[in-house]
Amino acid sequence: MKASDKIDDACARLLAWYDGHARTLPWRVPPGSGEVPDPYRVWLSEVMLQQTTVAAVKDYFAKFTAIWPTVHDLAAADDADVLSAWAGLGYYARARNLIACAREVAGRGGVFPDSEEGLRELPGVGAYTSAAIAAIAFGRRAVVVDANVERVIARLFTITDPLPGSKEVIRAAADSITPDERAGDFAQAMMDLGATICTSRDPKCLLCPLSDMCTARKAGIAAQLPHKTPKKARPLRTGTAFWIESDGHVLLVKRDGKGMLAGMRALPDDGWSAKTSGDGTPPLFADWTEVEGMVGHGFTHFLLELSVQRCELTGREAEGEWWPIDRIGEAGMPTLFAKAAKLVLGT
Ligand code: SF4
Repeated sequence: MKASDKIDDACARLLAWYDGHARTLPWRVPPGSGEVPDPYRVWLSEVMLQQTTVAAVKDYFAKFTAIWPTVHDLAAADDADVLSAWAGLGYYARARNLIACAREVAGRGGVFPDSEEGLRELPGVGAYTSAAIAAIAFGRRAVVVDANVERVIARLFTITDPLPGSKEVIRAAADSITPDERAGDFAQAMMDLGATICTSRDPKCLLCPLSDMCTARKAGIAAQLPHKTPKKARPLRTGTAFWIESDGHVLLVKRDGKGMLAGMRALPDDGWSAKTSGDGTPPLFADWTEVEGMVGHGFTHFLLELSVQRCELTGREAEGEWWPIDRIGEAGMPTLFAKAAKLVLGT
């Protein structure tokens, strides 16, 4: 049998497996259903899924599509409402790009570009996301390589060079088996295979539709791949957040429009950033006490240890938004500050 016939056979087996085992996901059209994917839902899910798991995204996706069922609705939304609904998903630059992208697409009559090149021109849509949307929403042949697919490909072809340096080699190998037909289903089948069968620690090769072409399985080293270059240790920064309470309300501020967590509602702090620790200076003169405990949080490039100081005022003259403490969960604060509020309230 020729090599190309073997690949065609493997693709056919993978697609047949997908027809019977596709994960049911709220943004997905089931294979063979005849339904047409909605590019808005595909785009929204792919942006949400960057750096995050399916389990973490499901509730956010349901919330966003209930409040803003179309790209026009999202484009017309207040920035603060979108950032607040996004709170907890992290990587807030993505939320700001989400708003910018929705407005760009709404300005084009609500029509998403249907090619990788066209999609790449949209705010926040990079190489991976444009390939995923082109394949899944528009059935274009595109090479879609997320972390799950990277693992499957590294094993199928025994690519032993460590990630991230091997990304281009993995992409080229993925390209070599991507079919012209059912490109969206193929991409989603590879993702599902990685998520459910070809898992990190314990690949279930006996159940795998690609087992007969998998060279790492034959060599007995599947579970060891892909190799990864150890990550550099992230620097540690320290900072202080301030819980200023008055008559059942806490003072919240809107963060500076340019720095970390820009535009988000938050507790006042001492100016910590990715580059420097905070200096501990409180925003006003008061009788401060230190809250017992510490909030730890990991950002992409650094770790933060946040201590919390609290005080109680008799009036509400201080500038900011006085938020009812019993509704603090609805303030839409980023996870870091939500953790600080929990530390104060002991919840
Ligand atoms: S045979 Fe095993 S290691 Fe190879 S792709 Fe399938 S599950 Fe992964």
